[in-house]
Amino acid sequence: MAELPDDPTADATRRAPTEAPPYPVGLRLAGRRVLVVGGGQVAQRRVPALIAAGADVVVVAPQVTPAIEGLGAELRWEQRGFEPRDVDGSWYVVAATDDAEVNAAVLAEAEAQRVFCTRADDAREASAWTPAVGRHDGVTVAVLANREPRRSAAVRDEVMTALRDGRLTVRDAHQRTAGVVLVGGGPGAPELATVAARHALAGADVVVADRLAPRELLDELPAHVELVDVAKLPRGRQATQESINQVIVDRALEGKRVVRFKGGDNFVFGRGFEEILACRAAGVPVSVVPGLTSAISVPAGVGIPVTHRGVAHEFTVVTGHVPPGHPQSLVDWEALARMRGTIVLLMAVQNAPLIAESLMAGGRRASTPVAVVVEGTMPEEHTVLSTLGDLAHDIVEQGVRAPAIIVVGDVVAVARPGHYAEPVTVRPGDFVEE
Ligand code: SAH
Repeated sequence: MAELPDDPTADATRRAPTEAPPYPVGLRLAGRRVLVVGGGQVAQRRVPALIAAGADVVVVAPQVTPAIEGLGAELRWEQRGFEPRDVDGSWYVVAATDDAEVNAAVLAEAEAQRVFCTRADDAREASAWTPAVGRHDGVTVAVLANREPRRSAAVRDEVMTALRDGRLTVRDAHQRTAGVVLVGGGPGAPELATVAARHALAGADVVVADRLAPRELLDELPAHVELVDVAKLPRGRQATQESINQVIVDRALEGKRVVRFKGGDNFVFGRGFEEILACRAAGVPVSVVPGLTSAISVPAGVGIPVTHRGVAHEFTVVTGHVPPGHPQSLVDWEALARMRGTIVLLMAVQNAPLIAESLMAGGRRASTPVAVVVEGTMPEEHTVLSTLGDLAHDIVEQGVRAPAIIVVGDVVAVARPGHYAEPVTVRPGDFVEE
């Protein structure tokens, strides 16, 4: 005769068939006792998250890893083997020893006391499973892939990446506020756009983009987003800028969220502040997402530092769109020539010969190393190494076209020592960061 359970609810406490999906829940463990049995690698992975959740963690194990021991005051360590009374008063139990018998004993006691319990060595037996977890911007992502930890971690990673690069955004009230955001997209490679830039794009109704703004990010925009491509507006600088100001202001006044998307940083030769003034004049809220300027990141991307200890204690970023001596020029080329540091030239391909001439006339050596980085960080990137004396010739011979960054100074030879015969003088002294 089959023995009847003396407690009619006993069946309900038996483990569910493993085919049944788990029921997800977020445990709020602050101030609640959580028992962790075991002090090895598994416990080491679980304990910090439990502490972060505010749990009152008790670790029972004869030995623990140095990392767990290092958590010292943040948990209580009972240095001994498991005893069933350890489960008393616990809200949650983690069986994480490498001994199947001990884990089974922990789980059995947890079952008896009706406390949910995970089991490191055999999830099938356990009453709870540990998900793969990620957190982003107030959202907790927890993935359970039917006891396949690699798969749950892979799904978690996908979701986290999508959240971080803005493909998945919770369009909350804050993001729906109309206005204009000036967003710097970095030098060109999509990976070099910031998380904030991707967020802003993901929340946009209208994107007004420049020729140099990272194009690949625009391809990712959903179909309902209006894309205004400034490169396709009628030519003529002044007219173009005025119509851009008009577009961003008009769309914002219609209640849209407008992203003004540019290459590099909008405030570096990007007319960003003119757009700020236009928005202010129209009473449109405007904010700024800084970008990685090409002036520093393009040289860095090919391994050329704009400063180097003992070689260059300053770098000057200069536009070359008007040549030295031009009535509209605001640059003191003689002073630049007298300075010792690195010169980073933007928009200077066309005027490079006149600029080189003027720097040499002002005292820079004809042998001063020069690097021209064309289409930096993008698939067509290439670098032409030259000197001030040879620059005019090399630019023509190599067919250099914009966009290009021209770096002038000994830092180029520091980065490409094999190319230059003259050794670089390195002066003693340290940079000490404040
Ligand atoms: N706001 C931008 C600069 C705008 S001026 C920034 O902060 O980067 C445009 C000039 O930037 C180009 O003529 C070129 O000199 C430089 N430039 C921008 N992106 C570049 C790239 N990927 N490679 C080389 N030069 C680049």
